[in-house]
Amino acid sequence: MPEFASLDEERLHRKQRLAAGFRLFSKFGFEEGVAGHITARDPIESDTFWVNPFGVPFAHVRTSDLIRVDHKGEVVEGNFHVNEAAFCIHSQVHAARPDVIGAAHTHSTYGRAISALGETLEPITQDVTAFYDDHSLFDDYTGVVTDIEEGKRIAHALGEHKAVILRNHGLLTVGHCVDEAVWWFVTMDRSCNAQLLAEAAGTPVLIDHDMAELTHNQVGAPVSGYASFQPMYQTIVRDEPDVLD
Ligand SMILES: [Zn+2]
Repeated sequence: MPEFASLDEERLHRKQRLAAGFRLFSKFGFEEGVAGHITARDPIESDTFWVNPFGVPFAHVRTSDLIRVDHKGEVVEGNFHVNEAAFCIHSQVHAARPDVIGAAHTHSTYGRAISALGETLEPITQDVTAFYDDHSLFDDYTGVVTDIEEGKRIAHALGEHKAVILRNHGLLTVGHCVDEAVWWFVTMDRSCNAQLLAEAAGTPVLIDHDMAELTHNQVGAPVSGYASFQPMYQTIVRDEPDVLD
C-alpha cells in the first residue's frame, strides 16, 4: 500500500485513481446515461468527497475534471454540478463508515439483473467468496434517490460490509481506498454474471461454509482488492494518459 509525504500528495493520488475508475467503468459498459458515480473521501477535509462531474462521459473524465462536494451537497471545488443521487447516497455512506475512502455505484447490467431477483450472491466460485458474509440486500425500492434519508437507509443496509445490492436498482461497493471500491465493483458485477449463467444452466454446487470463510479472508481482504486493481490501473494509464491531466 502506498505511503504519502503530504496530504496534498495523497489527495492527488486519490483523484487519479478515481478518474481512472471512471475510464475503466466506461470500458466495462457500466455507464447508463447520467447514472452512476464513484466517490473518494478527501484526505484534507474528510467530510467532503470527490465525485464525477455531472453529464461528463465516464470515458472523458480527467483528474482535473473531478469536483469536490461538502456534506450539504455544495460543490466546493470544480466547475460542474453534482448528480443529486450521488450526493444523497454517497454522503450518507461516507458519513456512516469512517473507514470508507472509496464508494462505487452504477447501473451495471448483471448487477441490475441480480438486484431484480432480490437475491444475494451464493458461494459458487472462488472469486465470489470475496463477498461471502460480506454483502447485504437493501430490500426496498422507492424511486430515484433524491433524499438523504434514503441514503441513510442504504448506508444502514450496507452495515459493515463491502457491498450492498440495491433491489431493482444495482450494486454499491465500498473500500478502504478507491482502488478497492472499484475492484470490488468490477468483480461483483462479474460474479452476478456467473451466478445468472450457472443458475440458468443448472444447480450450482456451493462451496461449504468453512472453505468459503477461509477463501473470503484470502480473495476478499482489503490488500487483495487493492492488488487486483493495479493491472487495470496500469492498463488505463498507458492507453489513456490524459486521464492524469
Ligand atoms: Zn442508481
